[in-house]
Amino acid sequence: KLFNEVQEAKGNIRVFCRCRPLSKQELAARCTTVVDFDAAKDGCLGILTTGSRKSYRFDRVYTPKDDQVDVFMDASPMVISVLDGYNVCIFAYGQTGTGKTFTMEGTEQNRGVNYRTLEQLFKIAKERSETFTYDISVSVLEVYNEQIRDLLASSPASKKLEIKQASEGSNHVPGIVEAKVENINEVWTVLQAGSNARSTGSNNVNEHSSRSHCLLCIMVKAKNLMNGESTKSKLWLVDLAGSERLAKTDVQGERLKEAQNINRSLSALGDVISALANKSNHIPYRNSKLTHLLQDSLGGDSKTLMFVQISPSDQDLGETISSLNFATRVR
Ligand code: ADP
Ligand code: MG
Repeated sequence: KLFNEVQEAKGNIRVFCRCRPLSKQELAARCTTVVDFDAAKDGCLGILTTGSRKSYRFDRVYTPKDDQVDVFMDASPMVISVLDGYNVCIFAYGQTGTGKTFTMEGTEQNRGVNYRTLEQLFKIAKERSETFTYDISVSVLEVYNEQIRDLLASSPASKKLEIKQASEGSNHVPGIVEAKVENINEVWTVLQAGSNARSTGSNNVNEHSSRSHCLLCIMVKAKNLMNGESTKSKLWLVDLAGSERLAKTDVQGERLKEAQNINRSLSALGDVISALANKSNHIPYRNSKLTHLLQDSLGGDSKTLMFVQISPSDQDLGETISSLNFATRVR
């Protein structure tokens, strides 16, 4: 309750920063840690470069010791608000290999925000079942090279999907699969199906997923049994494409096009969130498929949470600083 009140007072955009541990390979290669967590409890983070410390401040900072439960605990109030009729967007932003997928999807042993969100929604829906009924369904989409693919469709590549504006001002994608989920036991299977479809047709699974945005949309229809009122709301959980810049000399042909599309859509996202944070009159939603798709869930009384994921390693310093700067700009 208190957490929510504090949050209300601060507006609708939060930024949490999460740093992964050094990997086995990095330890073996004697990489050192450039991130300092002395003030992580206060949302502060230091980056140590030769002889200087650069400080950043976020709503939360997670050290490599914080686990999936710690992270979800702080995201949970925002997640729950979808049951109260709010639209919510949660993003994971960062260089490839920093833990975006770990935070959002997680692993079977260490489940992430996506699964925990649905688990929480079912739990609360049950607690409220005397006064509300909730219909929960999910879609899983991918945006790759400015094209939308439905990862729950039987043949994802064959359908050409477009964004349409519905009469009540909400955006939707006609023809997309909306899988109704009745209980938490059905969820992992659906999420895995989406995750598996993400890589079909590409020769390298990890490479492909790092160059596309993966979006899970949870749609909630709530009906108040006391007064008959109903609401419809959406919660987007987004595993963004890797934010790293590729060396110009390495990039040609198809890779160049991919890189430009990623670059364009991540900048468009940054522009939209910073325009919202600055209460600008014009919010440039239409500059990318990603922001257009999320339009009705970004801004207004919607809630936004961005995880900026970073690596602790000295070898990633440049990308780490660029991610932290991106996150500071949207805050
Ligand atoms: P990304 O999706 O950003 O490319 P991944 O989620 O695939 O990164 O993470 C890269 C590797 O690091 C994976 O093996 C993952 O399990 C591991 N990892 C990431 N974050 C953490 C963490 N907080 N704790 C432990 N392992 C992590
Ligand atoms: Mg990933």
